[in-house]
Amino acid sequence: MQGAFSEHVRALEAVGARTRLVRTIDDLDSLDGIVLPGGESTTMAMLMERAGMLDSVREAIRGGLATLATCAGMILLARDITDGMPGQHGLGLLDISVRRNGYGRQVDSFEAPLHIDGLNGKTFPGVFIRAPLVERTGDVHVMANYDGHPVAVRHGRIVALGFHPELSGDLRLHREFVRLANTGANQ
Ligand code: GLN
Repeated sequence: MQGAFSEHVRALEAVGARTRLVRTIDDLDSLDGIVLPGGESTTMAMLMERAGMLDSVREAIRGGLATLATCAGMILLARDITDGMPGQHGLGLLDISVRRNGYGRQVDSFEAPLHIDGLNGKTFPGVFIRAPLVERTGDVHVMANYDGHPVAVRHGRIVALGFHPELSGDLRLHREFVRLANTGANQ
């Protein structure tokens, strides 16, 4: 709908996945996984609502569709949003509370090396751009922390990241996501 989707397309295709842009309800048909990209969560939620897609995306993810959410996508999934637009509705599927732009405004974008649970080898270059700050976690597995706050969480077939792996030049998280989507797809 909006945001940094073309970089995800490039990263997913580089690790061998076939991709499709999801713009209508019909585009959700027979997907193995979906990416909720970074961008502007208020705009995304508004466009999804207008297209009548909030409910169908929510149902698809609740039904087990593998989901990779980055930055604004993480906000869309969060159960509670602080500093959102008045009446900002998301999908509410992930038991976390986030503060929009909780690390500061654009000038405060930064890069940090992250130790991510389940990723072997070197640290992952975390690119943070007006990132949401995760202030509370409930029923999720925290995969990585930075500066005392979770920046990567997982629940079932949902992976949500506060940073932008598609801008990092490191394909490991996309590779892991494709593996997750291929495991038990459509079950
Ligand atoms: N601050 C943005 C929002 O509220 C997210 C920024 C991003 O996705 N890089 O949606």
